[in-house]
Amino acid sequence: MGKVYLTGAGPGDIELLTLKALRVIKEADVIIYDRLANPDILEEAKNGCEFVYVGKEDGRHIVPQDDINEVIYQNALKHENIVRLKGGDPFVFGRGGEEALYLYERGIKFEVIPGITSAISAPAYAGIPVTHRGVSVSFRVVTGHESPNKKESQIPWETFKTDDTIVFLMGLHNLPKISKKLVEIGKPLSYPCAVISRGTTVHQSVVVGTLEDIVEKTKDVPTPALIVVGKVVELREQLNWFGENV
Ligand code: SAH
Repeated sequence: MGKVYLTGAGPGDIELLTLKALRVIKEADVIIYDRLANPDILEEAKNGCEFVYVGKEDGRHIVPQDDINEVIYQNALKHENIVRLKGGDPFVFGRGGEEALYLYERGIKFEVIPGITSAISAPAYAGIPVTHRGVSVSFRVVTGHESPNKKESQIPWETFKTDDTIVFLMGLHNLPKISKKLVEIGKPLSYPCAVISRGTTVHQSVVVGTLEDIVEKTKDVPTPALIVVGKVVELREQLNWFGENV
């Protein structure tokens, strides 16, 4: 029986991979991976390493999670070093916890290798610090996958009134509803927000707007993309350090 490394692949820029992730990728007998922002990572694997693709397309699951769990488990029965590679961090909307539980219940050893999440690194590459003295003392990372109009929403929208920075992952298709909801709970129409697409890669693009005009401005933005809401967005004017190819 082998050991499974639930490994964060980082947000896209290959240099944002951790040394530990790189080591286990080089030693892997099999790599089970999602749609990665940077597939070049797979080239680091040794000769003979097997690759199993179980990708998901922006929240829509191509392979059901139960099947992915089972694929990982079956591979753990026949290999020594199993790498389960996931974009960003495995525990930030990566369902890494579910996979770890599945392995735990079956007595399979595992390790978690955190990755740099897109939630902070894409804003960083866009020149947006998620906290900033005098501007924002907190940030929250929220799923944008759930429609704000859903009857029994698990998202405590009312509590966002006082939030400084809010980062929505998986939210591009819900942006019209999200921006409307934030205005409904009391944020001004002029409140700053940004959409960052393919963050930290050479294809990164950033659109800055307000809760009023961001939807109109981001109609054709490619995924993966995240939404940052908060006054920190205004710092981009001075802090935009990353050369864009757009
Ligand atoms: N575990 C991942 C997040 C998985 S959810 C992490 O820690 O980053 C997938 C969502 O992450 C996408 O819908 C998008 O909102 C965001 N995302 C992932 N990579 C991104 C990137 N390079 N740029 C912008 N957003 C990204």
